[in-house]
Amino acid sequence: MLNVPDYEFWFVAGSQFLYGEEQLKNVARDAEDIVKRLNESGKLPYKVVCKGVMTTAEGITKFMKDVNYHDEVAGVITWMHTFSPAKNWIRGTVLLQKPLLHLATQYREDIPYETIDFDYMNLNQSAHGDREYAYLNSRLDLKNKIVYGYWADPEVQEEIASWQDVAVAYNESFKLKVCRFGDTMRDVAVTEGDKVQAQIQLGWTVDYWPVGDLVEVVDAVSEGDIDKAYQELQQKYDLEPQANPQDKFESSVRYQLREYLGIKKFLDDRGYTAFCTNFQDLKGLKQLPGLAAQLLMAEGYGFGAEGDWKHAALTRLLKIMAHNDRTVFMEDYTLDLRHGHEAILGAHMLEVDPTIASDKPQVQVHPLDIGGKDDPARLVFTGAEGEAVDVTIADFREGFRLIYYPVDCRKAAATPHLPVAKQLWTPKTGLKDGSTRWLAAGGGHHTVLSFRLTVQQLHDLGTMLGVELVEIV
Ligand code: MN
Repeated sequence: MLNVPDYEFWFVAGSQFLYGEEQLKNVARDAEDIVKRLNESGKLPYKVVCKGVMTTAEGITKFMKDVNYHDEVAGVITWMHTFSPAKNWIRGTVLLQKPLLHLATQYREDIPYETIDFDYMNLNQSAHGDREYAYLNSRLDLKNKIVYGYWADPEVQEEIASWQDVAVAYNESFKLKVCRFGDTMRDVAVTEGDKVQAQIQLGWTVDYWPVGDLVEVVDAVSEGDIDKAYQELQQKYDLEPQANPQDKFESSVRYQLREYLGIKKFLDDRGYTAFCTNFQDLKGLKQLPGLAAQLLMAEGYGFGAEGDWKHAALTRLLKIMAHNDRTVFMEDYTLDLRHGHEAILGAHMLEVDPTIASDKPQVQVHPLDIGGKDDPARLVFTGAEGEAVDVTIADFREGFRLIYYPVDCRKAAATPHLPVAKQLWTPKTGLKDGSTRWLAAGGGHHTVLSFRLTVQQLHDLGTMLGVELVEIV
């Protein structure tokens, strides 16, 4: 699995000098306690580091600049234990270049009617301190995340956890590099796009490489390395030659492993974590990368077919958010329009990510009937059941548009004459409504399907990246 750095989040409590040194010590103590117990909850995917109490504009400004220049810090969590005059936050907040979560909480869960006094009221002012602080963020049009509720509540902690995954993906988005082997498929509109705008807005570096350069690396893969990969494949999956003679089957599978190892080396040597291929541009390669692309996706690499660099990048980005848990490149392929059965059958020609398999994938070899290449090996399996989200990114002259809906996934029936991996799903709003709105928004047929991510996380990601959102809910 392709890992991301071990990010952390910096936590600060806002206050002021008005209440005296003693109260500031209490604020610091409570902030430390909240952070300690958030980390101990076991719910957060990334560590929170308490950076103390902020009381002055100078201190806040310096803090935010430090956040920007510490690569290991993915974002900031703020909490207003007391009133913290928000003019002090203006300069620092304007300079902050990373995601911001305002944790609108109170140290104590209830109101202690029996013991409450003015000391308590001076210290526990979140109710109005949060509003002063949030006014400024709203006025700055930050669209920062607000998580409201008692900090020890599991639901609140889960919201923080979900946001952390989005914030890390946002940081990684600006390091994301896509390798395009060949151009986009001829005549196709939806896979085109403005790569300069993608780098400005989304941080994605999108480079072209001639397939010939890849062929050299693929051809140089050693037989010994292929032997080793073949053994690993046998341990993980069932190899099913079916009607193929054993030697033909083995040589086809071995060639896919050669492509797998070659593409992996090519990407790793140059810092790419996503790639796309185009079956119209495979000169020098004997097979369309099928099993090869599937094995790379399972390891966390992003992939887009037909030169679709936008979905190669989006797949990688969402795999980061999902810790590579059941988050895959997908394609709307064919429909069941019968009343009561409405569904979309998703697949691709070959390149379906095995992390959504509900059965043990089989390695099979069949003709492709497109592209004029040798019969490619591929993993064949049935997808999963459950709730998921399906998302696409489209490029318009005004900018990028993220279009998504929640879906219910089911297993497709057996298709003895279609030997590819398959997934069946229906938009939660219904096939007719969901698809009509998807079409009207200009959403394409390539998507990322995730059983791990939520609509809220997609909303948060799109908001951080400043893209237009079309939420079909
Ligand atoms: Mn396609």
